[in-house]
Amino acid sequence: MRCFWDERQRAHAPQTEFFNGALHPAADVPERVDSVLSAIGKVEIPPRHSEAELMALLRPVHDANYLDLLRTAHDEWRSAGREGDVLPYAFPVHRRPRSLARIDARLGQHAYDTCAPIMVGTWGALLAGLDTLLAALDATLAGEHAFALTRPPGHHAGPDYMGGYSYLNWAAIAAILSGKRAAILDLDYHHGNGTEDIVRGRDGIAFASIHADPATDYPFYWGHAEDSGGNVLNLPLPRGTGFEAYDSALSRAAEWLGDGSPEIVIVSFGADTFVDDPISHFSLQTADYARLAERVASLGVPTLIILEGGYAVEALGGNVASFLSAF
Ligand SMILES: [Zn+2]
Repeated sequence: MRCFWDERQRAHAPQTEFFNGALHPAADVPERVDSVLSAIGKVEIPPRHSEAELMALLRPVHDANYLDLLRTAHDEWRSAGREGDVLPYAFPVHRRPRSLARIDARLGQHAYDTCAPIMVGTWGALLAGLDTLLAALDATLAGEHAFALTRPPGHHAGPDYMGGYSYLNWAAIAAILSGKRAAILDLDYHHGNGTEDIVRGRDGIAFASIHADPATDYPFYWGHAEDSGGNVLNLPLPRGTGFEAYDSALSRAAEWLGDGSPEIVIVSFGADTFVDDPISHFSLQTADYARLAERVASLGVPTLIILEGGYAVEALGGNVASFLSAF
């Protein structure tokens, strides 16, 4: 198991977020990384690519106008005389394709919620995260298991939208750039809506997600069981789910993914399924992650593990280390 992390990813440091109708301290804080680093030990620093190289690699996954917005939004926000983090406040459910120049109009067009603030360091942190992902992907393509300490998370980011702390969809990027038959397994508490939107219908990529029932939990509009079909399998579970029911769903997902004879497995791993997670409602324990990971490892395919959520900061490192221990 090789682990990759780039310190430049710390530059993304949101202060507050809008949650359940009120402003709260942000959950995706850089301290999450310290917890993971202290638990997993040695990490490798990924080689750096130029911005132009990285933009070219993103082109098959994310829309050009969306990437341009991510790159320039903070400068435009400052030019408009704004302080603090960049946040959208109006969303074009009416006439979405209309093209407007004002920063707030552009933000709303490329976001589905207010949970992806952009600050001065966000774009640089995203590019560094992409370097981290690419190094881990290279290791996986060479036949090893690898962990990319990606932060911010990625699985809520769609082809042309941000949301849910996510901007670039690490799992979809890895699957598409791999050029292999890829199985994406999303084990975050929340449905990987962005990943599903990017890979649905793509040849050679299968996507299975185990997550909280969207009838009760974010992101609400995706991830329902009846949305399964083709290369997508959604397995929603009720609040309170513990090891046995989770393992049973994982067994089903692993068998379904294995039927596609994947050459690479990509795990969107979120430890917000942990019993003490402050924003979630499953009841997995630290030791459970090792047992669940064994089921994934038993597919016998080089596996790339990506960090998504997990907001019980002190326990996060132990939960990640537990999951990685099976590889
Ligand atoms: Zn999550």
